[in-house]
Amino acid sequence: MADVFSELVGQERAAAALRHYARDPVHAYLITGPSGADLHGVLVAFAAALQCTEHGCATCERCRAVVSGHDPDVYLASRAGLAWRVDELREAGRVSRRRPLSKGYQIVIVEDVDTAVSGASPAAAALLKSLEEPPPLTVFLLSAHEMAPALDTVASRCVRVALRAPSDAELITALVGEGATLQAATLAVGAAHGDLRRARLLVHDAGLAARLDRWRTVPDRLGGTSASASALADELLRALDAASEPLVAHQRYEMAREASETGSRATSRKELDARVRRELRRFRVDELRLGCATLSRVYRDRLTEALSGVDVDARDRRRARAALGALDVVAEAGRRLEANLDETLLVHDLLLSLVDV
Ligand SMILES: [Zn+2]
Repeated sequence: MADVFSELVGQERAAAALRHYARDPVHAYLITGPSGADLHGVLVAFAAALQCTEHGCATCERCRAVVSGHDPDVYLASRAGLAWRVDELREAGRVSRRRPLSKGYQIVIVEDVDTAVSGASPAAAALLKSLEEPPPLTVFLLSAHEMAPALDTVASRCVRVALRAPSDAELITALVGEGATLQAATLAVGAAHGDLRRARLLVHDAGLAARLDRWRTVPDRLGGTSASASALADELLRALDAASEPLVAHQRYEMAREASETGSRATSRKELDARVRRELRRFRVDELRLGCATLSRVYRDRLTEALSGVDVDARDRRRARAALGALDVVAEAGRRLEANLDETLLVHDLLLSLVDV
C-alpha cells in the first residue's frame, strides 16, 4: 500500500524500520546517509508518519500539512550559515519544550548535525542539552551525512537509522517513473553522482549536455597564456550563472508563494532567505564539482593513452607527467571546493594552474 515512504528511492529497509518506529516512537532519531540518499525527504516522511493517525497514509490532511511544511507542531530548525550556531540550536531546544497544539507530537527537525558537533563546541553542548530530557510528547529528528566519532554522544541519545546510496539504476528507474525519457534520465543520473535531488533538477535541464562539453574541452581550449586561461575561467563562471537561473526563478516563485501564505512574518522571511541562499550555494558547488569530475576524466584518459603504447618514449612520458600534474591540480580544486572558498577565485586559480603543468 502506498504511503509517505513509497516515494523514497532505494530505502526499503530504512522505510520498514521507520514505519515500525512511527507506531511507538522514542524521543530522538538520528538518520544518517550519504548525500545522495535524500535525508531531508526521509525526515519529512517520518515526521508525517508520526503525526498521521494512520502512520503516514500520504493522503490525509495531516500528512499533506507535514509534507508541505505547514504543520504547526513540526519545527524545521534553520541556520543562516553552513555550520549551526549556538543560538539557532537553543531556539530548537526552546521549541522542543512546547506542548503540541494538535493531537500527535511536537517534532523538532535538526538537519546536518555533523556541522554542529565538533567536540566541545558550544553548539554541540546546546544540542545535547535539549536531547537530555525532552517532554514526553517531543520527538527529535536529526540527520547527518557522516557518522563522525564526535557524533557519538549525540548518537548515544538517539535511535539510529542508516540510509544507503541508491544505485544509478534505481535513480534512472525513479526518474523515468516521474516522466523523464530514458536518455535524459541516464545523462542526469550520470552527472548527479548518485544524488536524486540533483538528478531531478538536471533531468529538466536542457543545457546540461552543453555544460558538460564546456568542461570536457577545457584542456584543448586553455591556450598557453594566463590571459587565455582567465578568459576561459570567466566563460565557465558565466555558464554557471546561466545554469543557476532556473533555480533562482523557481526560488523567487516559492518565496512569493510562501510569503503570501505566512503573511511574511519577519522570522519566516529570514529563514526563507537563508534556505534560498543555502540551496543556491549547494547547486553551484554541485555544478563545480561536476566540472572538476569531467575535467579529471579527460586527464585520466590522456594519462592512459600516453602510457598505453607498445614503446613508451620520452614524449609519452612527458604527456603522462603533464596529465598527472593536471589531475593533482583538479583534485586540489575539489578539496578547496569542499572548504567553501570563493568560486570566482577557485575557477581562475584552477585554470591558471592548469596552464603551468
Ligand atoms: Zn496521513
